[in-house]
Amino acid sequence: MQYEAVIGLEVHAQLLTDSKIFCGCSTRFGAEPNSQTCPVCLGMPGVLPVLNERAVEFAIRMGLATNCSIASFSRFARKNYFYPDLPKGYQISQYELPLCSNGYVDIELEDGTEKRIGIIRIHLEEDAGKSIHDPALAGEDTLVDLNRCGVPLIEIVSAPDLRTPQEAYAYLVRLKQLVTYLGICDGNMEEGSLRCDANVSVRPVGSDTFGVKTEVKNMNSFRNVERALTYEINRQIQVLESGGKIVQETLLWDANEGIARPMRSKEEAHDYRYFPEPDLVPLEVSEAWIEKIKADLPELPRARKKRFVEQYKIPVYDAGVLTMTRELADYYEAITQVCSDFKMVSNWVMGEVLRVLNERKIDIADFPISPERLGKLLNLILNKTISINIAKTVFEEMLQSDAEPEAIVEEKGLAQVSDRGLIEEIVDKVIQENPKQVEQYRGGKTKVFGYFVGQVMRATRGKANPAIVNEILKEKLSG
Ligand code: ADP
Ligand code: MG
Ligand code: ZN
Repeated sequence: MQYEAVIGLEVHAQLLTDSKIFCGCSTRFGAEPNSQTCPVCLGMPGVLPVLNERAVEFAIRMGLATNCSIASFSRFARKNYFYPDLPKGYQISQYELPLCSNGYVDIELEDGTEKRIGIIRIHLEEDAGKSIHDPALAGEDTLVDLNRCGVPLIEIVSAPDLRTPQEAYAYLVRLKQLVTYLGICDGNMEEGSLRCDANVSVRPVGSDTFGVKTEVKNMNSFRNVERALTYEINRQIQVLESGGKIVQETLLWDANEGIARPMRSKEEAHDYRYFPEPDLVPLEVSEAWIEKIKADLPELPRARKKRFVEQYKIPVYDAGVLTMTRELADYYEAITQVCSDFKMVSNWVMGEVLRVLNERKIDIADFPISPERLGKLLNLILNKTISINIAKTVFEEMLQSDAEPEAIVEEKGLAQVSDRGLIEEIVDKVIQENPKQVEQYRGGKTKVFGYFVGQVMRATRGKANPAIVNEILKEKLSG
């Protein structure tokens, strides 16, 4: 029997507001534990939450970017459960009336095709605090840090439209790209600003009903989501193949062991006793406000990619790499203001620049060469002052200092030699010194041509203009 997987993801994204969702406390990451709290986010009796308008705006941005309907009337709800890092005993979330619903995103698969993934809903909620079980910090106890209590989150719930772990990965890549383009979340899964719970079931290929699903939690990278799903899909298939039944349960992914362990079964599942939050009025969003937010949306990744292909006449592949993040796309476009060979600019950004970012594990924001400086370097290739190889040497130099490329070329005497007379002299000398190779060449072994080019380049320390070298060599060798 052939099986296929059915996957739906629930993704939490921490919003980049300065203050929390229902109080004025700071959301800054990494502060002294419990220093960013107040009676509201500590859940003291008698306090009242006040909704952060910016958090609503951020959620609407994401709703619009994912083609959702934005509800003009939505409501907050209490989700009741006990946990040491949840002092109120309930989390304020949204339940039957979420802010955004019925949208979709188009994801890009490895073969270059696209697939549309439904978004069931996006709702606003508050984060809980953090329990620290690390023995190095807490010994045998558990410590509680409530700084994160009340940090605004959106939860993005996908339709069960994903069919493979690779599609789930591509979906997460797209979501991260969207939230970072929109500037509403830093998208860092390792630090927990993006969190993913994966729901997965399997069914025989061709079946149009869903199997029983399990939910896998605790993955802290996109790769781990992919690995965890692969593991769980195989496990479910094995259970069914051996005549067993899938039980609905929640599993915790253990990245070190590469396995998912049961955490709780359906019988132990929470009953959250949701009810409308009595301390907050319903959320009413005007059409005018939605229109204003829509008008202020930045150009989104797919549109930008398409524009790059049209405006700069670069391949779709290049445009995809260059628009992967907003910052990289900005960097590319800033260079195009200086250098007009757009494909060459693309080659350098995708090649040299990305190589250095990977090697140094840094973001483009911390890259030492400004787009203007790189543009000037590339112009030196364009106007034939230096060859591509010399440009790579100058590039390395520019990584180490703030010097302008022209100054480096000047100081190190790297400018290309295009003086025909000088090159002719060198060519003559090389021909004279290599009679055997000349004979071979003239006898039809034209492969030795490269050898001559190499000799001339060596004699000029790589500075001879290659086009002129080729031309003169051909002329002189053919006798
Ligand atoms: P629950 O009530 O258990 O939270 P929901 O209907 O709210 O379930 O769906 C939660 C997530 O699970 C959604 O992302 C949805 O796409 C996904 N999902 C629902 N049913 C299945 C299934 N049979 N297999 C895989 N994923 C599913
Ligand atoms: Mg759910
Ligand atoms: Zn507070």
